[in-house]
Amino acid sequence: MPELPEVETVARSLGRRLAGRSVIDIAERTPGVLSISCQTGLPELPARFRGAARHGKFLFLQWGGGQTLVVHFRMTGSFYFRRPEDNPQSHTHAEFRLDSGETLSYRDPRRFGRLMWLGAKEMKSNNPARELGPDVLGLSRKGFVEAIQPHARMMKALLLDQGILAGLGNIYVDEMLHRAGVHPRTLSNRLSKNRLGLLWEGMREVLEEAIERGGSSIRDFTDVSGEPGNYQDAHRVYGRAGKPCLICGTAIKRIVIGQRGTCYCPKCQRR
Ligand SMILES: [Zn+2]
Repeated sequence: MPELPEVETVARSLGRRLAGRSVIDIAERTPGVLSISCQTGLPELPARFRGAARHGKFLFLQWGGGQTLVVHFRMTGSFYFRRPEDNPQSHTHAEFRLDSGETLSYRDPRRFGRLMWLGAKEMKSNNPARELGPDVLGLSRKGFVEAIQPHARMMKALLLDQGILAGLGNIYVDEMLHRAGVHPRTLSNRLSKNRLGLLWEGMREVLEEAIERGGSSIRDFTDVSGEPGNYQDAHRVYGRAGKPCLICGTAIKRIVIGQRGTCYCPKCQRR
């Protein structure tokens, strides 16, 4: 599933590719993947691109008239650009025709992703991201500590809870816990302010490195030009069960917490 660095990578490349463009038509190819919710029931087209933003794992493409395309990629959703002379790729469910002649096309083999085209009013009432906690990349050290401290839960589960902190998923939680030397089963109220501060530092490091490297290409993630990221080559624990810890050489262990596979180093991350 694309996590924060992958969605950020897509937001940045779409921000560049869509600059100056307008959507002139919207084609729904598979019913149910795209929902349109505007006052009149129809998008106001043409709509000029205003910018791309991200909150947690949600992507927001903003268009003229206060309209927003809200996207959640879930497992296998992605965008690509299609020229009129090319056929759509398989599993293409919705297309946004641009004034350049190209389409911004959404494909999703497993079809769990969601697209919502919202009018300005609906963006206030129906925005699915309004239930989320603060985006982790926007949090200061103090803000991060304050978001975690009121809770008494296992760190792994708490960090994955999008209502508390938005943007982290399985990969980056495992990686940041390893950087900070925190066992994934540690209860959040057992960590001092100082340890939580170190965890915030580990999180920033991991997320910033991952964004710089175009994200992690797990399950064929690519950015909108089809370029894969390469942060998966830098993972220290995620997907490395049984392999030696890059810090101390101990074999990485895999356990299950809240139904999520969790990799950690038993020596670097003691309880
Ligand atoms: Zn280790």
